[in-house]
Amino acid sequence: MHLLQLGAGSGGIVVLDLMARDPRITHITLIEPDVYQAHNVYRHLFPPSAVGQLKAELARQWVEALRPDIRFHTLVADITDPQYQAEFARCAAACDVGICAADNEAAKLAFDALLRAAGKPWTLGEVLSGGIGGWVHRFLPGAACYGCVASYLQREVVEQPAAPPPDYRQPHSPLPETTIPASKAAIAVIASWHALVTFELLSGSTEADRSPPKTESPNPAPPPPCTSLLVALQAVPGVFEVPYRTHRFTIPRSPSCLTCGSTAALPTGDALDAAVDDALARLGSR
Ligand SMILES: [Zn+2]
Repeated sequence: MHLLQLGAGSGGIVVLDLMARDPRITHITLIEPDVYQAHNVYRHLFPPSAVGQLKAELARQWVEALRPDIRFHTLVADITDPQYQAEFARCAAACDVGICAADNEAAKLAFDALLRAAGKPWTLGEVLSGGIGGWVHRFLPGAACYGCVASYLQREVVEQPAAPPPDYRQPHSPLPETTIPASKAAIAVIASWHALVTFELLSGSTEADRSPPKTESPNPAPPPPCTSLLVALQAVPGVFEVPYRTHRFTIPRSPSCLTCGSTAALPTGDALDAAVDDALARLGSR
């Protein structure tokens, strides 16, 4: 199977390492434009001596050391860069599953648009500010898009705390008082959930989930598949009552979604900029 992954940062490299150990994965395309920097070392797999090299190249060497049989391609490019969109579209069309380990809204929306246009399933992992927990989302063709999920979470799931800051609702909050770095342990836990959810997709269990229940079966029908998994790693008043608890959400597609709704075209250029602005506004990060 061919995996298309966006991002090999501190979380993305953990997901990539876990995916590469699965023999079903025979081909990986990694999109990652960044250079490994000194401040990455503390929460990343690679040593200080790797500083200055491309993360994509370091990731390729890591995977090829584990799995020399895997075909590994890198694209050192920004997912929102217009000049690479045709190449990205070819990658999305060629893959079997996508993994998004990007940490900014523009990249998540761009990856969503690519995979949705190609009709491919994908997953997204998000570590919450301070490493208090994280999300793993599963996106299936025709179901809720990232815009639907972001909109739903803003309105329905995470209630505004009585005293607004700290705002734990989103990864990498821009508010200075909430830019507490997540620990490598917290990042690795969420990345491991991310890999597990992606393995579930590869196993085709989502296909079984969508099948009508067999009437002759004495067992009850399985519950509907969740689209989003929230993992609490710390108790935080007003957000998580209990640490180490998981919460499942089935987020529906929104007919009024500005990204995938019936009147929405796939965002490109100015429309993509508008969709990013809309998502940022919903997330309260501006
Ligand atoms: Zn949508």
